[in-house]
Amino acid sequence: MKVTVLGSGTSQGVPVIACDCEVCNSLDYRDQRLRPSVHIEVEGLSLVIDTGPDFRQQMLRAGIKQVDAVLYTHQHKDHTAGMDDLRSFNFKQGTDIPIYGRKPVIEQLRQEFAYIFVDKSNKYPGVLSVEVHHIENCAFRIKGLEILPIDVFHLYLPVFGFRIGDFTYLTDVSRIPEMEMHKIAGTRYLILDALQKDPHISHLTLQQATAIAQQIGPEKAYFTHISHKMGKHAEVEKELPPNIHLAFDGLQFEC
Ligand SMILES: [Zn+2]
Ligand SMILES: [Zn+2]
Ligand SMILES: [Zn+2]
Repeated sequence: MKVTVLGSGTSQGVPVIACDCEVCNSLDYRDQRLRPSVHIEVEGLSLVIDTGPDFRQQMLRAGIKQVDAVLYTHQHKDHTAGMDDLRSFNFKQGTDIPIYGRKPVIEQLRQEFAYIFVDKSNKYPGVLSVEVHHIENCAFRIKGLEILPIDVFHLYLPVFGFRIGDFTYLTDVSRIPEMEMHKIAGTRYLILDALQKDPHISHLTLQQATAIAQQIGPEKAYFTHISHKMGKHAEVEKELPPNIHLAFDGLQFEC
């Protein structure tokens, strides 16, 4: 399995529009963060988690030529706004694009992209075609590949993380119920939300995320959904234990 971090930034991305802070002015490429998403290549499948506002740029930058399925974590715009650009894969692959999300997430997509979810006879030519899969908090398969949802809380909003084999992706989380921690146990590669150092109502802080990563004990943990308030990548890296890192856009690893 090969994982590529397509975006490691928080909802506004980094740099933030009109911000003059030292992180937003940094010349380090690791301080340039698009909205959160990952690409996973596994068992011949090309999967994307979330399609945020930077989706088009992320597909071009990572050179992704095929999307076999999209997994949605939750309905916030920084994870969904780029869905329309999946249609390039409709044209190329000649198929509807399978999308997986829990019912309220699919419902929100239906409202925001109403023109996509009309029946085929009423559809405007060239509009995106998706194949909807409702998922619940139990394991499901995409062409034989088992995917285990991890049900976590983003303040009070339920969000799905996903475990595929030895890899777990958990974005937009402030609380992981004990039952779900058991499902993550033994994961060797973890990507986890860590917004900033200061407390936040709906995201883990650097300190909280570090404690959770240490409890899970993967070979490597990478933090994502990073705000400009976190500080410069190179400086924060020095403060972290050896197996824990900040993710950055373009980070790739095999697991
Ligand atoms: Zn988010
Ligand atoms: Zn800034
Ligand atoms: Zn969110």
